[in-house]
Amino acid sequence: MSYVSKNKVVSIHYTLKSGGGEVLDSSEGRDPLVYIQGAQNIIAGLENALENKVVGDALSVVIEPVDAYGERREDLVQSVSLDQFDNQEAVQPGAQFQMQSPEGVMIATVVEVDAQDVTIDLNHPLAGMALHFDVEVVAIREATEDELSHGHVHGAGGCH
Ligand code: ZN
Repeated sequence: MSYVSKNKVVSIHYTLKSGGGEVLDSSEGRDPLVYIQGAQNIIAGLENALENKVVGDALSVVIEPVDAYGERREDLVQSVSLDQFDNQEAVQPGAQFQMQSPEGVMIATVVEVDAQDVTIDLNHPLAGMALHFDVEVVAIREATEDELSHGHVHGAGGCH
């Protein structure tokens, strides 16, 4: 019997809901999500919940923000000049852009737009939320050396 444990490649089907029951994301109708346990490919709370599970195990867990995408930070709501956007017509409330930052790629969500300035929110869209996951383990295998050195799962064609 193979257990979910550090450096195993694990395939899961999942449905993610908000506290209000709204489905935010799901692997239903798609290939399962494949990740390396212990490699921080997925949020910490989900890794913890899946530790020692076996193929066929199904679980429902609620993951608090600290073990998911963190608390919301008001200092990440910032005002920037509209001039900084290449495609200004696409800058509408609710629109999301990827931005480079010293901490890596962040998703900026547009909050408000006026004639010259744009209020953007750099919090992760799921920050501050308790996440309700229904998860089923569908496969477990050993990671290859390449996968472990890269820190991510390779498909049939190798690194991609
Ligand atoms: Zn790779």
